[in-house]
Amino acid sequence: AKYVYDFTEGNRNLKDLLGGKGANLAEMTNLGLPVPPGFTITTEACRHYLAEGAVHDGLDREVAEHLEALEGRMGRKLGQADDPLLVSVRSGAKFSMPGMMETVLNIGLNDESVHGLAKQAGGNERFAWDSYRRLIQMFGKTVLGIDGDLFEDALDAVKGRRQDTDLDAGELQRLVETYKGIVREQTGKDFPSDPREQMRLAINAVFDSWNAPRAILYRRQERIPADLGTAVNVMAMVFGNYGDDSGTGVAFTRDPGTGRQGIYGDYLQNAQGEDVVAGIRNTIPLEELERLDKTSYDELVRIMEVLETHYRDLCDIEFTIERGKLWMLQTRVGKRTAAAAFCIATQLVDQGLITLDEAVTRVTGDQLAKLMFPRFDHGAEKKRIAKGMNASPGAAVGKAVFSSERAVELAGQGEDVILVRRETNPDDLAGMIAARGILTSRGGKTSHAAVVARGMGKTCVCGAEELEVSTSERRFTAPGGVVVAEGEVISIDGTTGEVFLGEVPVVASAVVEYFEGAEPADELVRAVDRIMRHADAGRRLGVRANADTPEDAARARRFGAQGIGLCRTEHMFLGERRQLVEDLVLASTDERRQAALDALEPLQKSDFVGIFQAMEGAPVTIRLIDPPLHEFLPDLTDLSVRIATSETPSDKDRALLAAVKRLHEQNPMLGLRGVRLGLVIPGLFAMQVRAIAHAAKEVPGARPEIMIPLVATVQELESVREEAVRILAEVGVEALVGTMIETPRAALTAGQIAEAAEFFSFGTNDLTQMTWGFSRDDVEAEFFSRYLELGIFGVSPFETLDREGVGRLIEIAVQEGRATRPGLHLGICGEHGGDPDSVHFCHEVGLDYVSCSPFRIPVARLEAGRAAL
Ligand code: ADP
Ligand code: MG
Ligand code: MG
Repeated sequence: AKYVYDFTEGNRNLKDLLGGKGANLAEMTNLGLPVPPGFTITTEACRHYLAEGAVHDGLDREVAEHLEALEGRMGRKLGQADDPLLVSVRSGAKFSMPGMMETVLNIGLNDESVHGLAKQAGGNERFAWDSYRRLIQMFGKTVLGIDGDLFEDALDAVKGRRQDTDLDAGELQRLVETYKGIVREQTGKDFPSDPREQMRLAINAVFDSWNAPRAILYRRQERIPADLGTAVNVMAMVFGNYGDDSGTGVAFTRDPGTGRQGIYGDYLQNAQGEDVVAGIRNTIPLEELERLDKTSYDELVRIMEVLETHYRDLCDIEFTIERGKLWMLQTRVGKRTAAAAFCIATQLVDQGLITLDEAVTRVTGDQLAKLMFPRFDHGAEKKRIAKGMNASPGAAVGKAVFSSERAVELAGQGEDVILVRRETNPDDLAGMIAARGILTSRGGKTSHAAVVARGMGKTCVCGAEELEVSTSERRFTAPGGVVVAEGEVISIDGTTGEVFLGEVPVVASAVVEYFEGAEPADELVRAVDRIMRHADAGRRLGVRANADTPEDAARARRFGAQGIGLCRTEHMFLGERRQLVEDLVLASTDERRQAALDALEPLQKSDFVGIFQAMEGAPVTIRLIDPPLHEFLPDLTDLSVRIATSETPSDKDRALLAAVKRLHEQNPMLGLRGVRLGLVIPGLFAMQVRAIAHAAKEVPGARPEIMIPLVATVQELESVREEAVRILAEVGVEALVGTMIETPRAALTAGQIAEAAEFFSFGTNDLTQMTWGFSRDDVEAEFFSRYLELGIFGVSPFETLDREGVGRLIEIAVQEGRATRPGLHLGICGEHGGDPDSVHFCHEVGLDYVSCSPFRIPVARLEAGRAAL
């Protein structure tokens, strides 16, 4: 195999092999841009080195050959005493990992060649010694593993209050001696003076830096695979530290915050490498370079245009000016904010650089979701009292409360509350649901609070360690003696992690206002509008909503839902109707049971009428009652205590207790629920079907679809279906009758089940729960964060559909279901329906639609459009 590529041999498509930096250096070289010559050692060589603990046999020879060729072109040899070639050795993986790995500049300097360098620079001794001290400093830190502070401290001691550029040649020469002393002291060896040895050690250090702890952590967070390895770029040095006619800078071809075209960047005179970003001296805005060096500036602007046109996207750039000559040192398609991503994509369409299809691929559902969170008014005055981790984006304002019960209580009175806890646990769930936002003083981005809040789309700041939270005293203290007691208003920004005292004004996102029907008002919203229209025009997947109320249904419709994919009926049995359900369960005679059902039916019917009206003739999939019965009955412990402490318990209470005991289940999720309940309580499903049928009859154009939950075998479905079909015929209404596929057995016997089902909807919450054997209500807090840390999965299977396991079951069910019934209509209604990666999966396996919560509908529409390209 070939392990080394000259910059002239590569191109931008070889990122796997040459890393992003190497591939783009090659691309720029081939575009004829001024790139210092060099070569790239492949990621394959790195993988070999990391696996075997030593470089491949032929690597040294291959590197030597390319070095010789480089020396030939440059007309000088690496580290040659009287006229040295110097090189940099730079890391560069496929995915950019900013600042995570290592780079060493000025390789080839030693006690002899430093004089040669000074001579080469026309007697500029200061420059030569400055380069030499930088080499020892960088090499000492990254290759030899010496604590960088030792060098920094020595530099500070010489500098005093002056800047590094104020040091003269003599001082820098003495600093080099000090640095060499540090190396000797820390490693027991002299600084390696052989240039080739320097290069070899630096290359291996770059390989090793792939597995540095911070690089591992970064990869885990960014979901970059751990086995890619990094490439190594060896490149002739150019010098921004010659003097004031030289310098180094970074630039963007557009504003990465807004997408606006222009000159964005920073420049630092008489500086090298990282100096610009390291903040050692104040940089100047890039526009001012025009005044300092018009020729280089004009050339840079010209090259920025070349790059934008060539990459057809925003690029970021590293450059250096050496005595009036501009050199390009790096470019890549740059990171940007969510807002800029949309603006840039449509700007590029207008410039004729990309098509609308491409524009749709340039943005993501996650970016769109970010644009939909409300935000704090930037202009408003704020008093910041702490900063924690930005666990779940959004802006929330409310009264601080310190317990779940209090949160529920105040929210019930219509107050906005922020739940403040040291950390949350599953017992806080009710409070988290009731609160506008969640603030914790402990725990990271995978803590219970963070994971659950993100799942609920609720604003959360976690791990604000400056805060001292006292639950018993119902207050917290912040630095500077600020005390916030229960009931005082705070504001938390889940996008930045900031905590403010008092109420910071919140503004609705303009993008949500647009989805609600407002005309596109600014550039961003116009961009979103164009991209959404194009995504809608191209997508094959339908998008429906999970909605249980007329209000949710109406919002879903405005957001573009083409129907309801999941209308849950269980909440329709809560509140005042609970009593009727209790009667139903406790009924000792058929007459009593029928009376309870008769009382429930008109209430159910009016629920459905509202929803059918809101959906204006679009299909509505109604799931018959699903949750375990005990959810409608009093808590066993509470009831036992009440009866035990009561002087004269009523007969009714005794009967209730007996029933609650009888129905108590160790494992309700695997108990009497869904179709099982429908089969056990006579008349329950029939009552629901009748309510649906009569409601449909009343709303012209209504399109009900009746969905039976938790089916595991076709026999269950058949008996329920027969009755449903009979009732529909009696009322004279047409409706599809289908089932959820949410038990593994249903998926595996889908061929049989399709005999009795006109549609399938994959209930991937339960399907995931049962396939993995994870209780969704329990595991997320307890061990998922540990699993994520260990990399057992990169993302919770409840968040992104597990293609290998759960996805496999879905594929089987799709194939076998359609084999039995070719026109079988297929959808998904779990939380996954609004998750970008899962939407792509649904497209790939050929489902007809995804259904998700109303707020996720735009995300699903966009991702469905992207999946179709
Ligand atoms: P990172 O990936 O962390 O940005 P780089 O490999 O880009 O690290 O290098 C760090 C700094 O050194 C950058 O500012 C880069 O422009 C500069 N640099 C790298 N190679 C050279 C070179 N041959 N001549 C001059 N400067 C260089
Ligand atoms: Mg760089
Ligand atoms: Mg379910």
